[in-house]
This record gives sequence, structure tokens and C-alpha cells, in this order.
Amino acid sequence: MPFKCLIIIMMMNNTYTKEYALELLNAKGDALDELYRKADEIRKRFMGDEVFIRGIVEFSNICANNCLYCGIRASNRNVKRYMMSMDEILMIAKKMEKSYQTTIVLQSGEVKGKYDEQIGQLIRRIKKETSLAVTLSVGNRPYDTYKYWKECGMDRYFLRFETSDRALFSKLHPDCSLDERIQCLINLKSLGVQTGSGFMIGLPGETVETLAENILLCRKLDLDMIGIGPFIPHPDTPLGNEKNAYEDDKEMFFKAVSVLRIFNPDSHIPATTAFDAVFPKIGRNLVLQRGANIFMPNNTPKKYREDYLLYPNKPGVDETPEESLDAAIKRILSLGRTIGTGPGHSIKKH
Ligand code: SF4
Repeated sequence: MPFKCLIIIMMMNNTYTKEYALELLNAKGDALDELYRKADEIRKRFMGDEVFIRGIVEFSNICANNCLYCGIRASNRNVKRYMMSMDEILMIAKKMEKSYQTTIVLQSGEVKGKYDEQIGQLIRRIKKETSLAVTLSVGNRPYDTYKYWKECGMDRYFLRFETSDRALFSKLHPDCSLDERIQCLINLKSLGVQTGSGFMIGLPGETVETLAENILLCRKLDLDMIGIGPFIPHPDTPLGNEKNAYEDDKEMFFKAVSVLRIFNPDSHIPATTAFDAVFPKIGRNLVLQRGANIFMPNNTPKKYREDYLLYPNKPGVDETPEESLDAAIKRILSLGRTIGTGPGHSIKKH
């Protein structure tokens, strides 16, 4: 039977259940090899061999929130705060256009209202002066703000729900509820913005059941992009002395990616930097071989990088943007994959 037919039958038979996710997450030995093989095959069938390179610019580390796990939370007085100027960001965007990076991902802490108009103007200028697709990742906002940014030209928005466990979410996020976060994602989708979300793997207090629920929530939200990465305790946060829930079973990080791919065959899935922090130099390669199809090199100027440490030992802090891009290209080609061309928009038909 052709593989795509098998997937369609799985969908019709409602195979995407919590039980099935748990069975896959508990795979060992031959079953684990089969999980990785299957995830890679689904990635190839639905997303092809192209790896799209999306350039991240961490344009500001100013944040009003205090998420318990985050290194740039408002209460961390050890962080030197910065905000890049519009001209500085535009210069980077223009450089990116000349390389393989067809999307700029603008990321910052969450400061409601204060810079929203400036961000809108920035989107307009990038869309006017370059051919780049624009992804924004700046946190929770009201519907009207997302609508304004969409009118300015924003193509995509990325906002992780971090955990589907309501009680755990409340404990970790003193500034918002899970319902508010999910409503933001629903609003973005209703506006026709390509919407991304995701979660952290191994937050203290989570179980494999939580992980299965996280994957199911991604599927339920029908996301265009899904980014996940291991929880890494930051010493300057209230979770500094905690451990990853899978500290003694780090294979779970990769299993999560593969199950995510099987449950979301046509979503873009990036190989996130945090995997390299846990498995230096090979983490993201393995993720690309186990379901992912996006790579996101850091384009933030070197002088700001050590002030944007969401977690410690973040790879690439001492690299220039050019070095980060070169390394990304080499890694993708070394895996026998090709570099994506064009904007790499969502392939979903909502
Ligand atoms: S995770 Fe985001 S919103 Fe939360 S403290 Fe960090 S930068 Fe701010």
C-alpha cells in the first residue's frame, strides 16, 4: 500500500490518539529505530528534502514578564537590557536577503503596547525594502494588535504554549493563563497569519503523559510551524536548581520530535538551538534526521548575543552571523539535504 494512503487511513481510523502517542514515546530497541525511520520518511514525503533557513534576530531582550524558566525574565537584574534600532535591523534584513535566508524571524521579550506601533513600522519597512517573509515572535497581544501587524505585512507568528498542563502552565507563568495563550493562537489563525507554537520538553513536574498531551494539542491547533526544545535550567531563575524531567532519559527529546512529526505530517518543524546545548554540535543534525525540516541560524549581532540567554550554554554566542550561517549550510549539506528556496510558506490548506 502506498505510504500516503497509509497516512490517510491512519487519519480516518483516528489513530492519532494519546495511547498511540504514548506507545511511540515509550519505544525502545527496534521499535525506537522504527520510530525514527518512520518520522524521517513522513518528513520526506510531506516536506521534501529541502531545509528552509530562517534567520533569527533577537532584536530586544526587554521583557515585562517573569516566566519562571526564562533567563531574560524581568526580575533578572544580571541582564543588560538592549533594543536594536530599526536601521540596525533593516541592515541585517538586507544582508539576509543576499544569502539563503528567505525569512526573518523577529524575536523579543514581551512588552505589551509600548513598542507595538514601532514593530508595525518595522514590518512595513522590511516588506517594502526586501523580499523577505516576516515572522514575529513577541508574545501575547490583543486581537487588534495582531490585525494591525498583519495589515503591515506580517506573514507568520510564533508563540509557544510551553505546556498543555493547565496547573503547570499557571505555576510557570505568573503573567498569563493557558487559555489566554491559546486564544492568541486562535486569533492569529482567524486572521490568516501562518501560526506557530510548541512546547518545552521536560519541564519540572511534567510526565510522559503531559508530553503526549502537548503533541496532541499541537495537532488539534493545526499549526503551520511547531518548535520544541528541551528545558534547560537557567541559574538566575527560580528553576535554577531543577532538573529536566528526562535528565536520565534524554532520548525522550528526540522521540518527542519524531512523534510530533508523525502526528503533524505537513507542519514545518525547526531543529531548535536548545538541542545543540544538550548535545553539542550534533543535536540539531539528529533532529533534522528525525523529523525536522527547518534550521534557524542566529543573525543577532555578536555584541548582543550574551544578553539574550533564555538558557545557559547557548551555542553560537561567540559567533558572528556569517559564521552561524556558514555552519548551518555545512550541516544541512552534510546530511545530504538541500537548501530551501523561496519563502517556505506553510503547505497546509486550512
Ligand atoms: S519566556 Fe518570553 S515572556 Fe517569558 S520572561 Fe522570557 S522573554 Fe519574557
